[in-house]
Amino acid sequence: KPVVAVVGRPNVGKSTLVNRILGRRAAVVQDEPGVTRDRVSYDANWNGRDFIVVDTGGWISDAKGMAAMIAEQAELAIAAADAVVFVVDATVGTLDEDEAVVRVLRRSNKPVILAANKVDDQRHEAMAATMWNLGLGEPYAVSALHGRGSGDLLDAILDVLPEAPPSTYVEQSGPRRVAIVGKPNVGKSSLLNKLAGQQRSVVSDISGTTVDPVDEIVEVAGNIYHFIDTAGIRRRVKEASGHEYYASLRTQAAIERAEVCVMVIDASEPITDQDLRILSSIEDGGRALVIAFNKWDLTDEERRHYLEREIERDLVAFRWAPTVNISALTGRNVDKLSKAIEEAAEGWETRISTGKFNAFLGRLAAAHPHPVRGGKQPRILFGTQAHNCPPTFVLFTSGQLDPQYTRFVERRLREDFGFSGSPVHVEVRARA
Ligand code: GDP
Repeated sequence: KPVVAVVGRPNVGKSTLVNRILGRRAAVVQDEPGVTRDRVSYDANWNGRDFIVVDTGGWISDAKGMAAMIAEQAELAIAAADAVVFVVDATVGTLDEDEAVVRVLRRSNKPVILAANKVDDQRHEAMAATMWNLGLGEPYAVSALHGRGSGDLLDAILDVLPEAPPSTYVEQSGPRRVAIVGKPNVGKSSLLNKLAGQQRSVVSDISGTTVDPVDEIVEVAGNIYHFIDTAGIRRRVKEASGHEYYASLRTQAAIERAEVCVMVIDASEPITDQDLRILSSIEDGGRALVIAFNKWDLTDEERRHYLEREIERDLVAFRWAPTVNISALTGRNVDKLSKAIEEAAEGWETRISTGKFNAFLGRLAAAHPHPVRGGKQPRILFGTQAHNCPPTFVLFTSGQLDPQYTRFVERRLREDFGFSGSPVHVEVRARA
């Protein structure tokens, strides 16, 4: 979601304007320097567009001069923002502190919307017009308190916001799309036959669903799934050279079309690099993942013991995926796949509100601050979930984070919010 920072010196009405943008009468926090607020960013929507509003009113101050402090706060906010609303008080005119912010705004190349606030009636319009001389374009005369002019202001903000970065996943209606993937001979087609053979009713005509001729719709334990590229699984072409290459292309295409991938691994044989490559494709593709250890009927105690070690050694990076031990031959646990698929899909679709996410970041930073590097300590200013499917988070920071710290944030996110069965992506946008 794009980010809008609201900046300006204290007392110009930033918090009131933020509440106005949010369209609710939340308690107005006193706009005094030195007041720290734990929540600085909010989810907003105008005319169907979602964006984040950052209120810089309460950011931590120190003993520097007022103008320098305000400029510094504005600088941090502006660096992380896609657009800036600069608020001035039309009843007072511009002061030195305003000028300090203007200099920062000029240096940044971010689009700026100038809001001349406290224009409660016509009398103040003339004063608002004098704000043209700030060189920031048209001053929008608004009354944050009474709502006057706020619609035009919001329209102007949306005009300069970039389109949200798209998720690679394109939402479609119809049953959940599942791809059964894995290297040759692990039992994919046996599993598909078992799943399709078990269904009580053949579901072929679900309204609003177009099923590719290579796909099948199958009911598993009461849930209906759209299995992808089942023709590729059923067709048992004898390997010519180059076959593996085409098989991997096919796997890749199936992963892209799916929401959830069921990765079939032969439990009776050691885990191979090829298994790991397919797993990585699923994670990189951002799809939900269930791991099915097949041919369980062929495993004895000794093999299961070794498998456990292989899992610890090779699959640590996929610990978040639910696993099911199955036998496509005997049908053991095959219907349990449904529960695992649902769990993974739920983790994949999870959304966390900006408020909750920032509360989490606040707790994290307090308990485990980023280590100091070369005398500097990058701070996470705030964060937002850019999208789900899979959950993708953006952290706005005052400097580059250690990749290790970013992974730590990701681990903690999982501990607090789950995301079972889904990759979680954390991106960092550091202030330039
Ligand atoms: P695919 O290439 O992944 O589709 O694998 P297939 O479904 O063709 O299975 C490969 C071989 O493994 C076949 O001989 C199957 O009968 C056998 N197989 C599949 N699943 C199981 C299982 O759960 N237990 C046992 N014992 N054999 C299985």
